[in-house]
Amino acid sequence: MATGCYARRARQELTRIDGVNLVAGSNENKHLLRLISDASHQERPVAPDKGTRTPSPPAFRTRTFVKVQDGCDTPCSYCIVPLVRGRETSLPASEIIAEVGNRVAEGYQEVVLTGTKIGTYHNNGIDLKGLLERILAETSVPRLRLSSLQPHEISPDLLSLWADDRLCPHFHLSLQSGSDPILARMRRRYDTTEYEQAVSLIRGSVPDVAITTDIIVGFPGETDEEFEESCRFCQRMEFARIHVFPFSARSCTEAAQMPDQIDSRTKKIRTDTMLALAEESARNFRQRFSGKTMTVLWEQRTGDYIWSGVTGNYIRVFTESKEDLNNQLMPVKLA
Ligand code: SF4
Repeated sequence: MATGCYARRARQELTRIDGVNLVAGSNENKHLLRLISDASHQERPVAPDKGTRTPSPPAFRTRTFVKVQDGCDTPCSYCIVPLVRGRETSLPASEIIAEVGNRVAEGYQEVVLTGTKIGTYHNNGIDLKGLLERILAETSVPRLRLSSLQPHEISPDLLSLWADDRLCPHFHLSLQSGSDPILARMRRRYDTTEYEQAVSLIRGSVPDVAITTDIIVGFPGETDEEFEESCRFCQRMEFARIHVFPFSARSCTEAAQMPDQIDSRTKKIRTDTMLALAEESARNFRQRFSGKTMTVLWEQRTGDYIWSGVTGNYIRVFTESKEDLNNQLMPVKLA
């Protein structure tokens, strides 16, 4: 199966590759379960019927994703999203609210709002804060999580909504690098000072909050000093989780043409270093909640009697139980 931005851009090319029996663009993620099921009975690549949605089997109904926005008007030098998804568009609030209501009626306990830049959500005079207010007021969604925000989208006004504990204390703030010269070459719209201010604002307003992030290592021209600076900044931010990506050039992007591309051996060493830092940071975050009672959404059985679930602040937890915990939200004392 091929999916993601590239699948959306090069569907024909991918369907000709041996072994690829399903091509689903990044805009088709919500149909994936049905597409996989269909593909297992077909030899040709399949595409979804637009505008229809097949509910997941009940066992999968725990956490679900509702897209609220697409596109990007502020290209970063490494990213292909603006090329494949075009200008920013936001879905009408009424459609989103209806969709959240549908998912809740189907039994989902947690809804994650997704988009390429949900912080720029804007439709008919309603911004992200307005959208969240309406979802909280007009649906009974037990848990609402946001996918990714940028530092300049964080404001006291927005954070005031987290007084409603249905909003998960979890912010994914994509950093990409902890070095200002690299951020400038990436054409990100913030520097580390602004990023740190946003993190402080969140931590001062939302108790027990998890800040998670993405980091690219081995960006073209990244010196040893810049990489070390990035590591030091990540350590200081005490992230609950870091997704580490070695830089991978995307054709037609500015970064792909930049001089001083980093060799794969150096990228591997830096990736391993950052992954070790990420592991330590995540462990430290988890340990802060040892002995504390948190609400867990049990998602799946991973062994005979072993259940896996997540807290609102995105700590993955496991327990042993012969009872069916699937899709239950319950207070749990963490070990
Ligand atoms: S990384 Fe995000 S902000 Fe940058 S171009 Fe891609 S979608 Fe836009």
